[in-house]
Amino acid sequence: MANPLYDTLFGRHAGSDAPFLILPDGAEVSYDAFLQMAARIAGHLAASGLEPGDRLAAQIAKSPEALALYAACAQAGVVFLPLNTAYTASELAYFIENSGASMVVCDASGREAMEGIAKGQGARVETLNGDGSGSLMEGAAGRPARFETATRGEEDLAALLYTSGTTGRSKGAMLSQKNLLSNAEVLVREWRFTADDVLLHCLPIFHTHGLFVASNVTLMAGGAMIFLPKFDVDAVMAHLPRATTMMGVPTFYTRLLDDARFDKDATRHMRLFTSGSAPLLAETHDRFRDRTGHAILERYGMTETNMNTSNPYDGDRRAGTVGFPLPGVELKVTDPETGEQLPQGEVGQLEVRGPNVFQGYWQMPEKTAEELREDGFFITGDLGLIDSQGYVQIVGRGKDLIISGGYNIYPKEIELVLDEQPGVLESAVIGVPHPDFGETVVGVLVPEPGKTPDEAAIMSAAGEALARFKHPRKLIVLDELPRNTMGKVQKNILRERFGDLFA
Ligand code: ATP
Ligand code: MG
Repeated sequence: MANPLYDTLFGRHAGSDAPFLILPDGAEVSYDAFLQMAARIAGHLAASGLEPGDRLAAQIAKSPEALALYAACAQAGVVFLPLNTAYTASELAYFIENSGASMVVCDASGREAMEGIAKGQGARVETLNGDGSGSLMEGAAGRPARFETATRGEEDLAALLYTSGTTGRSKGAMLSQKNLLSNAEVLVREWRFTADDVLLHCLPIFHTHGLFVASNVTLMAGGAMIFLPKFDVDAVMAHLPRATTMMGVPTFYTRLLDDARFDKDATRHMRLFTSGSAPLLAETHDRFRDRTGHAILERYGMTETNMNTSNPYDGDRRAGTVGFPLPGVELKVTDPETGEQLPQGEVGQLEVRGPNVFQGYWQMPEKTAEELREDGFFITGDLGLIDSQGYVQIVGRGKDLIISGGYNIYPKEIELVLDEQPGVLESAVIGVPHPDFGETVVGVLVPEPGKTPDEAAIMSAAGEALARFKHPRKLIVLDELPRNTMGKVQKNILRERFGDLFA
């Protein structure tokens, strides 16, 4: 194949009138119309001097054109680098400089700031607005509806995707064509996607979840996506009847459960709900099942690896677990000190190996060497265990581990206790510096609407449930936890904010 990524996901749909995108107003974009749009953009990129292997950075609203830009990059052999729309100008400077992008595509409102950044490295700036207007599509309009696909190999870079920056500065993960294709293939099979599927897509497309998991799986299966600009409960309720599947982050599901319209009748026709990017509380899983009869299928992945594990399609989808390693993916639990594999049931660092694992961090050879072993295992930074039935459980991130008086404390264990207390909606447990213990435990609580948790009662309940060294030294009540756009709790922000409680 001349270009496996383009040919497999996009090219084979050439000439197909089947719907690919269903827009909020009900209008449809067929596969063929989408491919023609992508070919015109590819023509414009090539005419602008972009060559295979060059990087194109895009900070743009979600739209059919934005997704076509991904397809155009694949066809022109250009490395696609989507950026979170929330990033500010100073954050952008880092990504643009770090990636050495030759072209930057942004919203017209950000053009001036972007030009200031891009000028330094001679990158060209184009605009693409949420409604499809802007210089990119103007340039593309004058190009032919066919483009000679650039020859690329499986090991060539397809995308440079920056991690979410939950634990520190975002790192650019180098993803090859094979990384993306192997994962999409496995997920289509495991989750039984077919050309009849209609996926309700409300995720952002600058992140691996919405871009690669959702879109690549749909493209590989030849199905359609209801392509909503963002998550909104009313919009989901309006479009759900036409969908067969939905992929979400846990906050989508908690928000849907807050709405009485979301019930058995509304979801009866659905085939599958999946969740990932952040832990799904067992409580949410149970409430969802009680309300709708559906067991959310939770899976675990990351920017660097695409998806690693999944609960089974057939079989028991277990709350609080992320299921089994996907076919072709090896997963082991190791001792963070020695790197030795730990016996089943013990908590350690999760390491994965397989065709899904990235090639390394862009221009960060030291970081790459630290996390990607020579034998191909990638140290994910997550801590977890494999239970007696083979299900993987994540207990948290290595960086969130609390070490107090020499004891290892996993925040999740304490959070599970706090979450159960009356009046508590959710919690986040962090370690903060302490003069005697090095670090000590602080519990941050979010009350249920209209409730005031009884802190003394919670302290004593935690005292009964947990060994002494795990007791929170202090509880703090906040209206909400700081979260990034993927719904991930930003514990680093909490640690900064409450870092001097015991100083
Ligand atoms: P950074 O690496 O920059 O700190 P990040 O790790 O949040 O940010 P992503 O690659 O978007 O960036 O997220 C991957 C992480 O998300 C995983 O390492 C894991 O901690 C978490 N995650 C993903 N799915 C799940 C899940 N089902 N349950 C628990 N955690 C999950
Ligand atoms: Mg990470």
